[in-house]
Amino acid sequence: MNKFAVFGNPIAHSLSPTIHQMFARQHNLTISYEKIGPEEADFERSLHVFFAASDAIGCNVTSPFKGRALQQADTLNNAAKLARAVNTLHRTDTGQLQGYNTDGIGLVADIHNQGITLANKKVLLIGAGGAARGAIHPLLDEGINTLAITNRTMSRAEQIASEVSHPAFMALDKPGLMSFDADIIINTTSASLHNQLPDLQHISFVKCELAYDMAYSNEATLYMERANQEGAAQSADGLGMLVEQAAAAFTIWTGKVPQTGPVIDALRQR
Ligand code: NDP
Repeated sequence: MNKFAVFGNPIAHSLSPTIHQMFARQHNLTISYEKIGPEEADFERSLHVFFAASDAIGCNVTSPFKGRALQQADTLNNAAKLARAVNTLHRTDTGQLQGYNTDGIGLVADIHNQGITLANKKVLLIGAGGAARGAIHPLLDEGINTLAITNRTMSRAEQIASEVSHPAFMALDKPGLMSFDADIIINTTSASLHNQLPDLQHISFVKCELAYDMAYSNEATLYMERANQEGAAQSADGLGMLVEQAAAAFTIWTGKVPQTGPVIDALRQR
């Protein structure tokens, strides 16, 4: 039986096994997908043990091991290179370990799920951590008009702008934000995980057609609530992104494209 897994610590909460088993059922595949939560020092050894099995095809990697997974990959996709983080490893028939970051692909797919197009839009990323980095290439690839990034620690956003060096991409500080009317505003910070808000004082939601929070929970996040109050036409959390990034990984591993809608609906009802 083909073996898959997700590595992270903590990992008990992970929805990945449920999501991938639903995808597998759609395609009449029988797979094993386990949660592996190594101690900090033990990640590389436990990854090696997993891939020592001849039927191990691939794994997902989540916090805090995404950066170390990158070091283990023989090849990297562009999003993984910029994110400096790998969330999907795939062992090919020749034994090569390919590293991908599918988070940004998942984000773009879930923005489309909301009925929103990205071409020619002005998009703002709040936050400059690994999740923001992973989103940049997939968003630029959609032909957006402008992609701006801002962050509590501005130097991190500026560092990313200098690395990306793309005419449509820029870092914006507080004065710059006041004249940037974004169509789509994405909270990539981890603030929602602590029931907090990033500083939104200089950001206008009046022309915003979608306020997206990469975090997800049973109820609307504080960010979604605030954005709605300040005029955003609609808001969404990151559950769909989670399912879509998993779908991209599933396709890399199996060559099959799962249907994500029924899986997102099933998880919402849990
Ligand atoms: P990182 O730790 O790499 O980055 C965290 C970012 O959040 C930094 O920009 C940090 O700013 C900012 N931040 C943290 N707390 C606050 C705060 N109170 N106010 C303002 N800014 C704050 O995390 P990741 O980029 O890996 O993940 C970020 C979020 O994205 C998490 O909520 C994670 O769960 C979510 N995520 C969701 C996915 C999905 O599939 N839905 C996939 C991947 C991530 P500073 O630089 O100033 O410290």
